[in-house]
Parts: sequence; C-alpha cells; structure tokens
Amino acid sequence: MTQLPRFSIGVGDRFAHQAKAQLAACIKAKEAGLEVIPVWNKSNREHNIIGSDPSQTRRAADAAVKELGWTAPFYLDADHINLTTVDRFLAPCDFFTLDVADMIGKPADAADVKAFVSRHPELIGTVAIPGIEEPFHTDEAFVTGVANKFLAAVQDAGRIYRYLVEKKGEGNFVPEVSMDETDSPQTPVELLIILAAIADEQIPIQTIAPKFTGRFNKGVDYVGDVAQFTREFNEDLATIAFAVKTYGLPSNLKLSVHSGSDKFSIYKAIHDGVKKFDAGVHMKTAGTTWLEELIGLAEAGGAGLEIAKEVYAEAYAHSEELCAPYATVIDIDPAKLPQPEAVNGWTSEQYTSALRHDQANKAYNQSFRQLLHVGFKVAAKMGDRYLKALEANEAVVGRNVTTNLFERHIRPVFLGR
Ligand SMILES: [Zn+2]
Repeated sequence: MTQLPRFSIGVGDRFAHQAKAQLAACIKAKEAGLEVIPVWNKSNREHNIIGSDPSQTRRAADAAVKELGWTAPFYLDADHINLTTVDRFLAPCDFFTLDVADMIGKPADAADVKAFVSRHPELIGTVAIPGIEEPFHTDEAFVTGVANKFLAAVQDAGRIYRYLVEKKGEGNFVPEVSMDETDSPQTPVELLIILAAIADEQIPIQTIAPKFTGRFNKGVDYVGDVAQFTREFNEDLATIAFAVKTYGLPSNLKLSVHSGSDKFSIYKAIHDGVKKFDAGVHMKTAGTTWLEELIGLAEAGGAGLEIAKEVYAEAYAHSEELCAPYATVIDIDPAKLPQPEAVNGWTSEQYTSALRHDQANKAYNQSFRQLLHVGFKVAAKMGDRYLKALEANEAVVGRNVTTNLFERHIRPVFLGR
C-alpha cells in the first residue's frame, strides 16, 4: 500500500530539465533534518500547451533520483485529471489528482442526497470538533444544501477512482481529490461534509485540495485576509483529524495546497498550524521553477539573456492569448508592464531584479512576473533553441531553481525558519 509521507512538495518541471535541481532542494531539507518528499506534478493543460507527455516527466524524475542517490519515496502526480484525460497518465504516474471542480454545483440525484443526509445524523445540530473553539451549528436544510452542491462531484471522483483501481490496482497509487479550481472557497464545515461523502464513496484519499479563502494567483504572493486564512486553515486541519477518526479515512490524510508557490505571507500560518495539529501537508508548486529558468538564463548574460528578453517580447505581443486560460488566477496591471523595447536594453541585473520574487527589491515587478509565468508557451515554441540554452547554462539555472525551492519555499513552510 503506497503511503504518502507526512511532508511533501509538488514540483513542476515544464521542460523536464530541472528534476535534479528540484531534488537537490529536498536533499538540502534532509541535510537540515527533515524529510520532504518530491512529487513531480504536471497537469494535462500544461502538457497540452507544451506538447509534452507524462512519460517524459517519469524519465526525468527517475534519472534525477538515480543520479543523486535519493532513497526516500518520490511520486509523479497526474495533476487535475478526469476520466477523459487520465489515460496517458496511467503508466507513468503513481499519484492522481481527481479534479471534480467542474461538477460542483451540479445537482445530485435527489434520492442520493436524501440517503446521504439520513446516513449522517452526526452532521446535524451542534458538531463539536476537537481543536475548534466554536462548534459548527447546522440543521438538516443546511446539510442537504451542501450535499446538493458537492455530492455529484464526489460521486464523479468515485468513478475516476474506481477506474484507476481497475487499471493500476488498489493501493498502488496516491489518490487526491481537488476542488480548488472553482469560484467560491469551501468552508471548514463544508469540508467536513465533503469528507463524509468521500468516505461513503470509499475513496481512500491521502490528500485533499479545497479552495481556500483569498486569492492564490500564479507565481505571486497571497492576496487576502491572512487572519481569516489562518483561522480557516487551522479549522480545516482539525476537521481532517476528526474526519479520519469518524469516517475511517486514511490516517495520513492531509491538506494539499494548490498554487502554493510564492505565497510567502501565509507560510508561517501553514507551518504553525501543521505543527500545532501534528499534521502533514502537501504543497504544490509548478511555474515558479520555470521562472527560475528564465532568471538563470538572464543571469548568465549573452545568449541566455537574449532568450529571456525574446520570451518577454513574445509574451507581451501575445499576452491576451497567453493569459486567457489563466484569467481567474492572475492579476496583471497592463500599465505596469515594461515595453519590450525597454526590456531589450536591460542588463542581466535589471531583468533578474524585475523577475525574481524578492519583495524587498524595489525593481521587482509582479505584473512582469505574472505575464512571464503564463508565457511558457513561448519557450515551448522555441523548441530546441530554448532547451539548448537551458543545457548550456545548467549550473546557473539549477542554482536558481534549487535556491528558490529550498530557501523561499521548503524553509519557511516545512522547517519554519
Ligand atoms: Zn490545482
């Protein structure tokens, strides 16, 4: 039975060239005394935009693990899949993120909703959960409403899960259910009801990705009420511990934080909450590594810097098309985007200062960073020229990738310092 360890970090490697540099960050964590397991995640959407295949991620991860002598577990996450997209992920992946966000709000069968509510009298009335000061207060109408909103999605997750069991065998993969790519966040009491339904559906989930309060924009800091996030995150942790006991869900069940990279202002809350509840956490990052590739190329100067400038100029020219699929998870101020002609005159330092996520640097430009975040299609179109540049500048790119993951992510989230 494959069991995801307590601490894990999802890393994305768009061009399958940074697995070693990413794994090096986990090795640094180990040297600092903590095991943080790497999970290489790449969604179907990313594969489609780049024109890559999940088997390439598998090859890159296996090679990195072998070369660096990593002996702890590692996983490959088929991120945000459903029944129509899962097939090419079956062989290379051993972690599956069942994305049922599209089904949220689709009404479930009325008889199923009724059966769910009558099966769960413990959800109605005053629901006291250890670790949460104020108990949840619900009634039958409320639970029915929540079941109506989420039951069809959970049943859909059940169908995907059973398909995976048929193809891969029970216990041979880590199942996650994700509900983050939807309009409104799930409250802790909704999470409890969702977990009850997931247990009924007999999906032994090891991670769950709710949508948290606030904005989780790609590649930039959290935007929202940190105090409210902290309160809800803690309540989610308490709710999960309660659901594990009450519904017999896997004991290693933990929260999965999607779009987790660069959310510096909530890392302390995540670290402290996880510690307080003796819980685990999985944090997914992806595009932050691609941006470090650009930073590394810019830092290298010469042809590397030229490619970094060219990526920006092309991204600027095609910004509408590039931003469209990510509209709900980026906030770019067009007035703050520098003209490509100006960027073409930049030094390495000007480019890296604008792009590197250092909020203390006055030259840091988060609109510039977000546009480049969604601009990986431009590099994909460059094909071999881009990959050759990565290879020619492997040392400087790799150093930036490792430093970003370890210093700015693993350190604050998992080590808490
Ligand atoms: Zn997600």
